[in-house]
Amino acid sequence: MDLAVARRVRIGVVSVQGDVSEHVEISQAALSHLGLTGDVVPLRTAEDAKKADTVVIPGGESTTISKLLVKTGALGVLQRRIRDDGLPVLGTCAGAILLAKEGDNQVEKTHTELIAAMDIAVDRNAFGRQRESFETDLVVKGEKDRVHAVFIRAPAITRVWGRSRVLATFDGRIVAAEEGNLIALAFHPEIAGDARFHVRLLRRLPR
Ligand code: GLN
Repeated sequence: MDLAVARRVRIGVVSVQGDVSEHVEISQAALSHLGLTGDVVPLRTAEDAKKADTVVIPGGESTTISKLLVKTGALGVLQRRIRDDGLPVLGTCAGAILLAKEGDNQVEKTHTELIAAMDIAVDRNAFGRQRESFETDLVVKGEKDRVHAVFIRAPAITRVWGRSRVLATFDGRIVAAEEGNLIALAFHPEIAGDARFHVRLLRRLPR
């Protein structure tokens, strides 16, 4: 029997605030789509961060999420595991901001500590200032069908460099990027009930 199928996968969903339950549901859907067995568990502490095979960071408010992860020591563990173990992480919206190496002046002003794992720069409220939320269909690299994307006070990725690659753009701005085992999305696939990015994440687990 294939070991990857026999083993239980542990998906840690950062559970500070934001749309956690939608991510839990869609993570479960991604597991069954791939025929994997596993557990989707909340991630708040350093111990939780040590035990996860893969991690999802939902949207919400990046400063609030960062503060809690710093306080519990989980942020440092995530940084180390991404660097040393190639931990696969999906960050949506606020989660994408946290994955970026470069924030904007709002990140600076609020002293928000980023996980700083991806060669991307973000503008925290790039779309939020113009319109609170909107939906659109995106062409995404590696996906045959368009992705229905829900943007809520969304950031944009202003620049990618190094090993990061653009996955999608909207209105001339980058809204999705990947780098090795890391995926950053400015929008919310979990709200649209779209499991494709969670499936992409799980495919990055070592076999
Ligand atoms: N713009 C928000 C932030 O700065 C993110 C919004 C979201 O996650 N929906 O944290």
